[in-house]
Amino acid sequence: MPAEYTVAAFQDLCRRAAHLPVFGVGDYLRAGPQPPAVIFRFDVDYRSQHAVRLASILARRGLRGTFYFRRHPAGFNHAAIRAVAALGHEIGYHYETLDRCGGDFLAARAMLQQDIDDLRRNDVTVETIAAHGTPPLAPGYAGNLDLVRRDPGLVGQLGLLGDAVLSVDFTRLCYFSDAGWHWTRHDGTPPGPGGRPSTLAEVGACLAHPETSVYLTFHPHQWFERAAVMHYFRWRNRVGMVILPRLRALRRA
Ligand SMILES: [Zn+2]
Repeated sequence: MPAEYTVAAFQDLCRRAAHLPVFGVGDYLRAGPQPPAVIFRFDVDYRSQHAVRLASILARRGLRGTFYFRRHPAGFNHAAIRAVAALGHEIGYHYETLDRCGGDFLAARAMLQQDIDDLRRNDVTVETIAAHGTPPLAPGYAGNLDLVRRDPGLVGQLGLLGDAVLSVDFTRLCYFSDAGWHWTRHDGTPPGPGGRPSTLAEVGACLAHPETSVYLTFHPHQWFERAAVMHYFRWRNRVGMVILPRLRALRRA
């Protein structure tokens, strides 16, 4: 198997999934298919060009996924969104409006509406949304998902089919996520606490003998053409996220 988080590994994964019915989140919610099925979800945090590359690989195999784009301070990357949509994929909004509004639910709701309107004004069909999963930036909420968790009616009011987590019945699914360059697996439970460490090989095994449907969440910014470049960025991430905070804590102790 090629090195994890490389384009070659992603191509290999697509080949392994190609014999199964593959869905984006919107199509999956609409169809409610019986197992086995595969859901391809992509949280496009940054490095949007990586998302375009993975979208092209999927499209070459005739597979479809949902790409959730964040809104950065400069706005959406509409060029990347257009490129991914032109390849036949679903586009969703990767929302973090509670973080951006310091935990103010009313402001976060208004901002969610504005951002979806912005995408739709640019001729993007938005049917589903997925929360960006960083720790909260203010007291009063546990994460961006709380915006919809506390007000499930919001989905319908915004003309959406659903949320990529709250609208999905995970009891029928095996869920894998590559967040933080570590595969995590949930059998029959939604993403969150209780996942267990996994590997790309386990994902492949699940696709070869699917007992349930398989929901795969990728972070395209972690997937590189060359393994050496991927290892450099993965190491840099570990220094920033793990090693430096530990050193700071030691200095404070
Ligand atoms: Zn994210």
